[in-house]
Amino acid sequence: MTFHAIIVAGGSGSRSGGKKQWMRLGGKPVLDWSVDVFVASGAAQVVVVVPVDDVVQAQETYGERVLVVAGGSDRSASVVNGLRAVTGDDGDIVLIHDAARPLLKIHHIKGLLTALETRPAAILALPLTDSIKKGRDGVIEDAPPREHLWRAQTPQAFRLGDILRAYAAWPAGKPATDDAMIAGHIGIDVALVEGDMSLHKLTYPTDFALLEALMAGDKPMKQTRIGSGFDAHRWGDGDSVWLCGVEIAHNKTLIGHSDADAGLHALTDALLGAAGLGDIGDHFPPTDPQWRGASSDRFLRHAVDLIAERGGEIVNVDVTLICERPKIKPHREAMRVRLAGILGITLDRVSVKATTTEGMGFTGREEGLAAQAVCSILI
Ligand code: MG
Repeated sequence: MTFHAIIVAGGSGSRSGGKKQWMRLGGKPVLDWSVDVFVASGAAQVVVVVPVDDVVQAQETYGERVLVVAGGSDRSASVVNGLRAVTGDDGDIVLIHDAARPLLKIHHIKGLLTALETRPAAILALPLTDSIKKGRDGVIEDAPPREHLWRAQTPQAFRLGDILRAYAAWPAGKPATDDAMIAGHIGIDVALVEGDMSLHKLTYPTDFALLEALMAGDKPMKQTRIGSGFDAHRWGDGDSVWLCGVEIAHNKTLIGHSDADAGLHALTDALLGAAGLGDIGDHFPPTDPQWRGASSDRFLRHAVDLIAERGGEIVNVDVTLICERPKIKPHREAMRVRLAGILGITLDRVSVKATTTEGMGFTGREEGLAAQAVCSILI
C-alpha cells in the first residue's frame, strides 16, 4: 500500500511564544521527531511544509529524505501546498500530520493504514473522558452527553484524490480546524481510530514540559518480562525435519498443521507469553487452511513484530529441544544463526540446547519430539 506523508509545520507559533517546530524537545527540534518517524515508516514521499522564510534552511538540514515546501497564509493553504507537492496516484494514501504532535509512533501510522484497507478515510482521535459543558457568559447553558464526542488528533489519512477534491470544494476563506472537516464537507466518511495521550498538541509553552514528562515516563516504565513456551509434535513418515528454522535430514518427519517446527512454535509462544499476547493458536488458528504447511518462521516474525510495535525489545532467548534423534549438536550453530536473524538480535543472546530423556516417556520412545523455550523482553 503506497502512502505519503505531509507534515504541517507552517505556523508562526504565536501562542507558544515562537516557531515551536524549531524549538528543542527531548534533545532535538520538534519537527525532527515527526520527520524521523515518517522516514522510518516506509512512506513513499515525506513532504514538510514550513514557513516560507525557513524553506532553504530546512531543505539543507533534512537533505534528500524529505521534500520541503513553503506554507501558506493559514493551515489549509499550507496543507494544499503540501498536497500539490505529492507525486502519486489518486488511490495512494496520504497522511496529514501536525508537527506540533511530535510523539508520533510507527504504530499510530500502522493503525491508520489498517483502517484505510476498508474505509475511505480515518483519523486518530481520543474519546472524551471529562464531562462536557457548553457555557455562555461564564455560566453553563447546556451539558451535551459526551458519549459520542472525540478529540481529533493527527495524523489524518485520506486517499490523495479524495482530499484534493475536498480541498478544491471547500469555500475559500472559510476556517477549518482539521482535514477531516474538509473531507466531511464533500461527504467522505472518516473513521475514528483511537489515538493516545502522547499525541497531545504543543500549543502553550507549558505543553513542552508535559511532553518532556511523557517522554521521560516512557523509559522507567520499561520492565523485564519473562515468557515460556512448550510444544510437541508426533513423528511420522518422512525424510527431513524442520527444527528452529533449519531443515535436517532424518528418517522421519514431524507431523503438524504447519511445518511442525516445535522449536519455533515454543519460542513464538514464549515471546507472546512475555508480552501478554495470548498464544500461537490465537494468532494462527490451526483450523485456518492458510497455515497448512506454513513455514513457521512466519509465526515467529509475527511475534517479533508485535513486540516491536509495542516499543519492546528482545533481550535473550533459550530453546531446549528434547529428543533421542536426530542429534542436534551438529546443527546448533546454524539454528542459532537462523533464530538471531529472525529475532533481529545478536548471536550471543540466542541459545539452542538439546537433551534426551534417556529412553523414558514419549520423547524417549521416539513417539514425538518436544521443545521448550524461555525468553526475556524489555517492554
Ligand atoms: Mg506446534
